[in-house]
Amino acid sequence: MDKEKMIKKDPSINLKDQILKEKEKIANTDPSYHQWNFKKLIIDSIKKNGGWVNAHAHADRAFTVNPDTLDIYKKHSLVEKWDLVDVVKDASVDEYYRRASMACEVLIEQGVTALGTFVDVDPICEDRALKGVLKAREHYKDQITIKTINQVLKGVIDKDARKWFDIGAEQVDIIGGLPKRDELDHGKGEEHINLLLETAKKYNKMVHVHVDQFSTVTDKETEQLADKTIEYGMQGKVVAIHGISLGSHPKEYRDMVYKKMRKADLMMICCPIAWIDTKRSETLQPMHNSITPVDELVPAGITVALGTDNICDYMVPFCDGDMWQELLLLATGNRFLEIDELVKIATTNGRKTLGII
Ligand SMILES: [Zn+2]
Repeated sequence: MDKEKMIKKDPSINLKDQILKEKEKIANTDPSYHQWNFKKLIIDSIKKNGGWVNAHAHADRAFTVNPDTLDIYKKHSLVEKWDLVDVVKDASVDEYYRRASMACEVLIEQGVTALGTFVDVDPICEDRALKGVLKAREHYKDQITIKTINQVLKGVIDKDARKWFDIGAEQVDIIGGLPKRDELDHGKGEEHINLLLETAKKYNKMVHVHVDQFSTVTDKETEQLADKTIEYGMQGKVVAIHGISLGSHPKEYRDMVYKKMRKADLMMICCPIAWIDTKRSETLQPMHNSITPVDELVPAGITVALGTDNICDYMVPFCDGDMWQELLLLATGNRFLEIDELVKIATTNGRKTLGII
């Protein structure tokens, strides 16, 4: 029915009248109207609003893929890459500093003034990535505000992984999570979320969690995170990242989750390029692009921010950290053209998710 609506004319609209009205509008508009450029209009507003905010990245792995190693991206699933990426994690503090510095340079050049970056702290890289990123933060502190978030690629359940989670949690600004890792390995996604929230409460820190990444109806992690946020009394301090799978559920379920998110004051970061490459599947589900449903989240009263996610690494090789490209895909992928809201998504909302306003 919806699809029929899309390709049929609406009989209640008189197109001839509409054309006359639009012509009149154009005739009465300042000639500069014809020179308008949405990119310029939006970027100028972003500058006035304090500059771009990249609310989600992995700066410690930036620029680690090259044409010779692109096969890892081509041949393997994300779940396999959570371990395969170990090949670039046996790096020195200086190498991590170099990667994070390159990411900072790329972002600062565009006018990014704040960055939230996950940093691997686990049995493979131990705390070298964090030391490298903190060194870069110190170097660029006059140009960009950086908030660090611990990435737990090895989960938090295995003994050694837990040890590094505890070390990371103490040192970072925001507690980071990836419940799917422990759900797939041990069936303990819920325990993973519990530990994140308990730890965040203990240190009085915010929480950022990767959820609903796989664009599938079996994913219900955003709902679970909203429920847990309320259970732990952490309203307004928890941020979901991605929420792609929301669009795979029927409207009734989506609306129910948005209500829960509002009750939990659960925010959402959209990283459009990172998930637009979701693989083709024969599963039938509501028609949608593989992107966070920003067109529904914003009207539902949810704070939405923008992130690049991985920059030129095994996970997302072709994302080069271009904030405009990300915002453009967010807008077009969702048919979401509310200019004021887009500016907020790229600026103040990002600050809110990083706890800097
Ligand atoms: Zn991420």
